[in-house]
Amino acid sequence: MILPPFELHNPNSIKEAIEISQKVKNEGFDYVSGGTDLLQNYKNRLNVKPHLISLKNIKETRSIQNFNIGAMVTLDEISKNKTLQKDFTGLVEACSQVGSILVRKTATIGGNVLIDNRCYFYNQTPFWRTSLGACLKAESDTCRVIPQKEYCVATFSSDSAPMLVAVDAKYELEGKNGKRIVESSDFYTHDGIKRNFKDESEIITKIKIPKTTANLKTGYEKIRVRDTFDYPLVSVAAALKIDKDKKIENINIVLGAIGTYPIKNEDTTDLFKGEKISNSMIKEISEKIQKKAQPYNNLTMPVSYRKKMVGVLCKRLLTRLTDS
Ligand SMILES: Cc1cc2nc3c(=O)[nH]c(=O)nc-3n(C[C@H](O)[C@H](O)[C@H](O)COP(=O)(O)OP(=O)(O)OC[C@H]3O[C@@H](n4cnc5c(N)ncnc54)[C@H](O)[C@@H]3O)c2cc1C
Repeated sequence: MILPPFELHNPNSIKEAIEISQKVKNEGFDYVSGGTDLLQNYKNRLNVKPHLISLKNIKETRSIQNFNIGAMVTLDEISKNKTLQKDFTGLVEACSQVGSILVRKTATIGGNVLIDNRCYFYNQTPFWRTSLGACLKAESDTCRVIPQKEYCVATFSSDSAPMLVAVDAKYELEGKNGKRIVESSDFYTHDGIKRNFKDESEIITKIKIPKTTANLKTGYEKIRVRDTFDYPLVSVAAALKIDKDKKIENINIVLGAIGTYPIKNEDTTDLFKGEKISNSMIKEISEKIQKKAQPYNNLTMPVSYRKKMVGVLCKRLLTRLTDS
């Protein structure tokens, strides 16, 4: 597929990028970092804009300092960072399972937390979409998964975001109205079209990880069709706080690729607080989360299989984290 025409802007600072965004906002624009998600969609003629503002030359967002990760840091750099490997293993596991090595060398963390939601009826060529009449997120006014015209159920497919939500990470944004910091767990919406509460002019500049993450056991598991290449079909991120006697202080479990946003399981967080973790507790927690999970029928694997895998991945991950 050939890219459609667009005008590419190459600002050298956040300030300059925002200024350009304001000049071209009436014609329409997208920010682009690695382009590994956005440009695939452009090739499929999905929501193409006439202006692309590249964040590639902006040096201020390219480093990892004291658990603050610049938005333009690549997933490959995160996977190889020694501090994160030791103190935030779950993020390293999540980032090192995104796409392929070629993708991870270009893909950024800022782009990863903002990727477009995915759906069998959306991520298709224009020819495929025309033959069926497209969907609510593309050219039609009707959802093909749940026929209705109100909301989109395209699946949230970022690998890093569920892990970031599990440790209560924050996103730093800068836009036409200045800077703000938002909780990752409050950032995403239930609608697969709107996706998040970012203002159009805002750029994610940093991912801020709480220092307390270093005291947690974190991990990430995902199912995909091809283990060397694909987006998640189900994923589970866990952040576990247990004391030296293996007594539970806190368990945060967040599901990815099940709904339209990263799903936090709050009813299992304190379920066995103060008790020594055991296999039967892990089984009970996993079964509870599996029972509640309701994947939409919009990715390549059947809903029943994906639902079952929620329980399997939870159990596998909690057992691994407890044994380590
Ligand atoms: C073959 C293949 C396999 C893939 N597999 C996976 C996978 O398994 N898991 C997964 O999570 N992803 C996957 N991806 C998608 C993508 O590669 C990653 O999500 C990547 O991290 C996106 O980052 P990027 O820098 O390329 O984002 P871009 O494509 O540049 O941008 C993505 C979106 O974020 C916006 N954006 C980017 N950076 C900023 C910023 N700093 N501030 C504001 N807006 C911004 C863009 O406007 C766009 O809407 C895959 C892609 C390919 C091609």
